[in-house]
Amino acid sequence: MLAEVSRERGKQYFGKGQLFEAMEEFNNCLALAEIGTNEMGLAFANRSACYVRMNMPMNAMTDIDLAKAANYPPQLMHKLNDRYQKCFLRLTTETFQPAIFRVRDLRLSFNEHDKFEGVADCLKIQRNMAYGRHIITKCDLQIGQIVLHEKPYSIVPNQSSMSYKNRCTHCFELFKNFITCNQCGAYFCSSEGCLEMSYHKHICNIPYSGPKHTFDLVLQVLFEINDAYKGVNQLLNAIESLRKGNYYMADLTGDQQKAFCSIFQMNHNHEKQSDEQMQSLLQASACAYQRIMHIANFNRKFVTKKHRRFLKHLILHLFHIAKYAIDLYDYRQEGSGDDGITKNHTFQMFGSGIYPIGSYISHSCNPNVLCYASCFSYMVCQVIRPIKKGEQLFRS
Ligand SMILES: [Zn+2]
Ligand SMILES: [Zn+2]
Repeated sequence: MLAEVSRERGKQYFGKGQLFEAMEEFNNCLALAEIGTNEMGLAFANRSACYVRMNMPMNAMTDIDLAKAANYPPQLMHKLNDRYQKCFLRLTTETFQPAIFRVRDLRLSFNEHDKFEGVADCLKIQRNMAYGRHIITKCDLQIGQIVLHEKPYSIVPNQSSMSYKNRCTHCFELFKNFITCNQCGAYFCSSEGCLEMSYHKHICNIPYSGPKHTFDLVLQVLFEINDAYKGVNQLLNAIESLRKGNYYMADLTGDQQKAFCSIFQMNHNHEKQSDEQMQSLLQASACAYQRIMHIANFNRKFVTKKHRRFLKHLILHLFHIAKYAIDLYDYRQEGSGDDGITKNHTFQMFGSGIYPIGSYISHSCNPNVLCYASCFSYMVCQVIRPIKKGEQLFRS
């Protein structure tokens, strides 16, 4: 019933030419539809019509195949076959140019740092009492310059936002041929295997009273760390040498592990938490611990008392650093009418990510840089006020 309402709304948007909104509603219908009814087939078919209008015939054809496999009513099949044929013809015309939806790709305004990927060579990470680890510039910076273009360590969708409905829960690509998780209706690319690759199956539908995307982020980082280290002792040794200040370790290779070093060195700020805040962090950690101990990858690996105690500490640490997560926004134009004049520009949150280097930029109410998401969820840090040599970078 709710699925049908969504689909009807989608058709209305489609009629008005609001294709992004239409697609959101059709995706919503897929998430709500009961398995085995023809509602899913109809939603795939409706979405294929959006793709035709968006000049994406390949995607339209994929959706038509998905519709046929999902109880699309046989008496309407001729409509789909016609559409498929038209898409096929479209693809084979010589003048065909597919539409590509991408945010403008942005590049660093400086050479890359010799130690950190995606970091301008003019930046320096340093440490003091007031700010802990923070970032300064070694030369004057001008408005508009890009000093950071960083890959996320981990990123999760914010399911309380409508905006995530046009993105894959795993790879965050826009407008792919999504299928949905049977349990919760989250979206995944149908042909890229995103559902199988995602940690989502472990995170899906865990009841949690606090902000769910923070909880999901902590669990996902935990899965990533667990996969990066084959044994618990290897992980313990890595953390031990980090404690001793050895930032670069011989046995650490690969960007993921380097990023993990940065994550582990983020400030804890235990002392800045109130009793209530500490209490809720402990509760969240306990809930996460209970949950992951049901998973073989963890309960067979963390066997001894010492290892399990370490795991509990690790989870608590991750809840502390989850507050360094950076929210990601989609830039959207609304109400673009027939006149071609756009009325509203909005930013809509679709997820949260942890960016090891970006999170060293301290907060200020008077920021001099702006951090936002770019292609493939890279975080871009752009200068918004002139910054003098030796000064610190601040984001809002
Ligand atoms: Zn995907
Ligand atoms: Zn799910």
